Amino acid sequence: MTATVPREGQLWSRCGACATLLYRKRLRRNLDVCPECGAHARLDAPERLLQLVDPGSFTPLPDRPAEVDPIGFVDLLPYPHRLTAARAGTGLAEAVVCGTATIGRHPCALAVMDFRFLGGSLGCAVGELITRAAEQALADEVPLILVTASGGARMQEGALSLMQMATVSQAIAALREAGLLTVSVLTDPTYGGVAASFATNTDVLVAESGARMGFAGPRVIRQVTGRPLPEGFQTADFLLRHGQVDMVVPRHALRGRLAALLAAAGAGRRPASRPGVPRQELPPTTPVGAAPTDAGQAGPAGGDAWETVRLARHPGRPTTLDYLETAFDGFVELHGDRLGADCPAVVGGLARLGGRAVVVIGHQKGHTTAELVGRNFGMASPAGHRKALRLMRLAARLGLPVVTLVDTPGADPGVNAEEQGQAAAIAENILALTVLPTPVVAVITGEGGSGGALALAVADRVLMFQHAVYSVISPEGCAAILWPDRGAAPQAARALRLTAPDLCRLGVVDGLVPEPAPAAHHDPEAAARSLREAVLAHLLPLLDVPPATLVRRRRQRFRRFGAARLGARTGAR
Ligand SMILES: [Zn+2]
Repeated sequence: MTATVPREGQLWSRCGACATLLYRKRLRRNLDVCPECGAHARLDAPERLLQLVDPGSFTPLPDRPAEVDPIGFVDLLPYPHRLTAARAGTGLAEAVVCGTATIGRHPCALAVMDFRFLGGSLGCAVGELITRAAEQALADEVPLILVTASGGARMQEGALSLMQMATVSQAIAALREAGLLTVSVLTDPTYGGVAASFATNTDVLVAESGARMGFAGPRVIRQVTGRPLPEGFQTADFLLRHGQVDMVVPRHALRGRLAALLAAAGAGRRPASRPGVPRQELPPTTPVGAAPTDAGQAGPAGGDAWETVRLARHPGRPTTLDYLETAFDGFVELHGDRLGADCPAVVGGLARLGGRAVVVIGHQKGHTTAELVGRNFGMASPAGHRKALRLMRLAARLGLPVVTLVDTPGADPGVNAEEQGQAAAIAENILALTVLPTPVVAVITGEGGSGGALALAVADRVLMFQHAVYSVISPEGCAAILWPDRGAAPQAARALRLTAPDLCRLGVVDGLVPEPAPAAHHDPEAAARSLREAVLAHLLPLLDVPPATLVRRRRQRFRRFGAARLGARTGAR
């Protein structure tokens, strides 16, 4: 599909697509696009910047990422070793290069990802750097351009990397509110947590020719469905055909197209008449949670992490509909996304909790095989995410708080889900929650699986059942990538820090919901009482907070996950 960028010093290189032997200088003159077959080789961030911006106009942001290893992650190698190797191999400090520049003499801020650096993965430092690029755009009142190239969230930073999806999304939301244009240039490949957040929640999506973008990767989808994928699946042309990008642009035309977009955005701006844009409050400087003290192999006190994973997935565990019958009263279920579907994996509607009206939205699994299959194992389709979005907005209109119950292995990784825009559907929910002007309390009741979980969990308070798990990737998925085989899932579960006590320590979770001994499925009534008490205790104080304050604090909550991982600023702004 794509060629590799030729190394310095080589005179010749072979096109990865058509295997033609090409003179390197000729290939470079042609912007690393094969003159024979038109294949676009992957570019590193420095080369991409050279091609996109006006010569000499790029000024890097002064921010430098610090050494990070927030969860003390070890697979076959300690995470810091992998970071050191990535830095040596790329000459970059992190997987993104940020700065300001002009394109066709129009000023803008840019964040350009580099796939060579740990697969362009989104970790705390990357999230913080892109957020600062967005804030620079806000301060300078210029458009923001994101050039994406990523496999997804960085699993070596556990749930903290998942939080970056919200951190960057809310920075995009601030630009939306200020009326500043945001553009994503999707390059090959853009997947997972990056696709399901800032890559798709910008105003204009430009796909470079040959780029592939999606929520779930082709390997995962093939594994789940057991069927070959359609021709051209997830390619730029596929995305255009399914209404998911605005345009497909060959590399030679990219700079001109961006210049035209920036010109149009500039023509529409009337800075004099626009109200002042408030800068986001600076995040607290205290670090989020203390780094774990053990070396990454021991589970939390009171139980092994893998044992907790098994409890969290237990088919007897109360489901969202069970809790709606027991912990809540008067549930009225509302159906449909109003766009053509009703996803059975997400349920929601109006209910009362302790006598107060709330909107409840949750993933629905089931207890029997038939129920699980009927509910797609709690894996939401894009229609499920859009139904949830509709209910969130309804809650805001009616002035009702939102309670979400999260229990999903992850978003649906299917062919149809990709065709219907799974990544963008998740991204839109994350962004909508960062600005929702009503209290939101999320409870991880069972499995909190990656972006699918976060799509319901950007909240003022995030609570977690004692034996629930919340993770950027399943232990099996992590083991398959970083260990020699899936059998290493128990080790991966420990390394990922996915238990409630671990996530409380890291600040990802605000409170633990106790379960009846030995676990919720042994006494569902007691679990329901526990849920009701915990949600009310966290929700009631939020009801008196003015909506603007609520939203500001929610943004601060998600901002600090990045800020805590970044070293001191080296320059003033
Ligand atoms: Zn070729």
